[in-house]
Amino acid sequence: MPGEASEGGSARAEGGTAAALPARSEMTLRELGAWLDAQIREERILISEAVDALLERAVMLGASDVHIEPTAGGLRVRYRVDGVFQDLGLLPERVHEPMIARVKVLADLMSHRRELSQEGRIHFAAGGQERDFRVSVVPTVAGEKAVLRMFNPAHGLYKLADLGYAPAVLQQLERMLNELQGMVVLTGPAGSGKTTTLYACLRWLYDNKDQYASICTIEDPVEYYFGRFAQIQVNRNVGLDFAKLLAAVLRQDPQVIMIGEIRDVETCEIALRAGLTGHMVLTTIHTGSAPEVVTRILNMGIEPFVAASALTGVVAQRLVRRVCERCAEEHTPERAQVEFIERALERTGFRFRRGRGCRACGYTGFRGRVPVAETLVFNDQLRSLVLEQPSTASVRRLARGAGMVSLLEDALTKVAEGVTTLEEVLRVVSLSGEGVAP
Ligand SMILES: [Zn+2]
Repeated sequence: MPGEASEGGSARAEGGTAAALPARSEMTLRELGAWLDAQIREERILISEAVDALLERAVMLGASDVHIEPTAGGLRVRYRVDGVFQDLGLLPERVHEPMIARVKVLADLMSHRRELSQEGRIHFAAGGQERDFRVSVVPTVAGEKAVLRMFNPAHGLYKLADLGYAPAVLQQLERMLNELQGMVVLTGPAGSGKTTTLYACLRWLYDNKDQYASICTIEDPVEYYFGRFAQIQVNRNVGLDFAKLLAAVLRQDPQVIMIGEIRDVETCEIALRAGLTGHMVLTTIHTGSAPEVVTRILNMGIEPFVAASALTGVVAQRLVRRVCERCAEEHTPERAQVEFIERALERTGFRFRRGRGCRACGYTGFRGRVPVAETLVFNDQLRSLVLEQPSTASVRRLARGAGMVSLLEDALTKVAEGVTTLEEVLRVVSLSGEGVAP
């Protein structure tokens, strides 16, 4: 196991003096855990310093979230990096309450109320980088668990062309945006990069269409502030939900409206009608595949002709981890695996790679992520099918017949190019069910 390479280091961290240790920023995650554990046991660190060290590491790792939770063996701290958990290890149980209390103080929560679920925000700076964490504290039977979600300041900085889409997907997306009307939906589970793509689309529209289009967003929360067009934060405390804000914003007649997420029929109805009346609506709907978006919208009770005429395109996506460039090596998967890919892509001659594991990637063999996608483009054929209230399977059949590349095919192409591995694709894209039928 590549991860084991750090074990020798952590033994030294426990027994050695501070001078023998690598600088804190050089430590692997396990080494940091062992060091913190020793510092706490020897009472050489303040709780506030220990919490700072945890947040500092989240920033260094580019983690999406930090989980601090009580377990039978002690306080468990984990970081989610590129969609996968990395374990810091266990800290002494007695720091559970003071550490959660410290987090609550930083997030401006009521630290003496341990029976409530509470939410807040922490602004944190480390190594010249500033970050915001969205904090949630929930009472469990073993005590409070805190999850700190780190806002990605890189959201909004990416250009659509730099996200890593296959050239065909990028071309289809740009063509949809170029129309400046109708509804474009991004779909996928939580953590599939929908927000990053939405922001990249807005940026594309601003860069290419600003002279023709006023842009407006309705978000919950606003994760990245562009400062170039109107961004509106949902505020349910004063009754401003997606539907209310959307109705209000439409009276200002913007050309492009980005709606963070559509969850209810009211928002969906207004958004589709906006798409029908010459506006462009960019949004996300939480489903597994592109064809499912059609059935989800129809199942909400939307009239089929409204959906059929308003929808321009749907992009379903997942994020797969990239093979770490620092430790990448060529390799040949098992015969059966190669044959599986050959059959799916109907070609041969691939360049497979994997990461050996190194310090740069925390011995995971992966560093960064890249989107894999399937795109449903609405044409006359698909529009007439939607009028018949079709099943997800028949939408998929029609789209596949018209040449839609499936999520699985797009992902396997990335394996064939050595960008990611087959194991990683199988972790992220399920083989059974929607999104993958060959
Ligand atoms: Zn590496």
